[in-house]
Amino acid sequence: MSEIVNEIEAVFETHGTAKYSEAVSQLEHALQCATLAEQENGRPALIAAALLHDIGHMLHKFGKNPAARGIDDRHEDIGAGWLNRHFGSEVSEPVRLHVDAKRYLCAVSPDYHDILSPASVRSLELQGGPLTSDEVRDFERGGYANDAVALRRWDDRAKVRDLETPGFAHFRPILEGLELAR
Ligand code: FE
Repeated sequence: MSEIVNEIEAVFETHGTAKYSEAVSQLEHALQCATLAEQENGRPALIAAALLHDIGHMLHKFGKNPAARGIDDRHEDIGAGWLNRHFGSEVSEPVRLHVDAKRYLCAVSPDYHDILSPASVRSLELQGGPLTSDEVRDFERGGYANDAVALRRWDDRAKVRDLETPGFAHFRPILEGLELAR
């Protein structure tokens, strides 16, 4: 397990300084999201999912800010696929669903669209817009819908400039305590 956690730490060291938004880097965004998950009593697997939900942005080969160039990088699938090789579905599925959770919330919660950042609004279009009513039903019936929505809510709040959070080392034992994928 330590080896995988080292690998994750190396991904953040190499790519974590990349901008997530104008206000925060990828690493800051990840740490803020995981800190919210921890403060709101997320299970260890969900704290890990919060920390790692955008790892697909750091693993993919589309270059910087693909959404600005009209490309949907499918980072949720890239990230979930990678995570699923190492951890269980409790970590990878909320990550896979965190974009659909945005599309879901846009469909069911009229105020939700207003709190999205400009970048999230832009990518929403590329990701297919709000879910249809059939898709809403499928999303709710599928596994991990609640976890994905919780993760999405933390994700949307994890964009605060200069916010102090614990560092990566704080989350190491949480990652190391997870079960490895079999
Ligand atoms: Fe995010």
